[in-house]
This record gives sequence, structure tokens and C-alpha cells, in this order.
Amino acid sequence: MAQAKSIFSKIIDNDIPTEKIYEDDLAIVIKDIQPQAPTHILIIPKEPIARLVDATEDHAALLGHLLLLAGKVTKMLGIDDAFRLVINNGEAAGQTVFHLHLHILANKSFAETGLGKEFS
Ligand code: 5GP
Repeated sequence: MAQAKSIFSKIIDNDIPTEKIYEDDLAIVIKDIQPQAPTHILIIPKEPIARLVDATEDHAALLGHLLLLAGKVTKMLGIDDAFRLVINNGEAAGQTVFHLHLHILANKSFAETGLGKEFS
């Protein structure tokens, strides 16, 4: 039986109309519907890989593309000086949509935060 389409696949296929900040052959970039920071965007590969750990060697170029896109889009938005990149892998880590995506969070104070500390 075919896997049900994720909410992100529906957005990618325009089943759900959503403003796209950026789109290319491999990925889309959209604003998060429930932002956790003043700027909160999502980089989503068009290929529906459920979790980061489900990616294989065959996805190496795609994963590289997603990271390069983080640089490109943050430059586009003028937030390339300070942003945080997050991937939640698995339900216990907070993943709610099982279609790989990168969160970009920006325009919050990073002064009190550090690697491994809560992002506030
Ligand atoms: P996760 O918790 O899986 O790492 O992140 C999923 C993210 O997708 C959440 O931050 C949630 O707010 C966002 N999200 C869920 N559904 C939609 C939607 O329909 N549109 C947009 N733009 N974001 C969504």
C-alpha cells in the first residue's frame, strides 16, 4: 500500500496552497506555520525521506544541497550572520512531520545560548 502523503508533500504538490520563499528542482523553503522564533523557516526536500536517519549514501548530494540552501536562503533574507539550524529526528526528539526538514531559526538573541543549551 502506498504511504499517505505527508503535509509537506501536499505543500510541494500544491495540494495545499502555501507561499514558497524559494523553490528549485530538489527542495522548497516555506515559513513555519507556528514560528518558534521571529524568523522560522523550513527547508524541505521534495523527495519524502521520513527522517534524517532514513537517508542513505544515495542522498549525499541532496543533503549537501539542503545545507547549501540554508546558506543561500539566509543570505537572501539577510539573516546569514546569526541563525540556528535544527533537525528533529524521531518523535521523542520532537519530530511531528515525518518528511525530513531543516528548521532555520533567527532574529532571537543568541547571547545566552550555546550548543546544547536551550534555544530561547
Ligand atoms: P518537526 O516538529 O517535525 O521538527 O517540525 C514540523 C514543523 O512543521 C513544525 O514547526 C510545524 O509548526 C510545521 N508545520 C506543520 N504543518 C505545517 C503546515 O501545514 N504549514 C507550514 N508552513 N508549517 C507546518
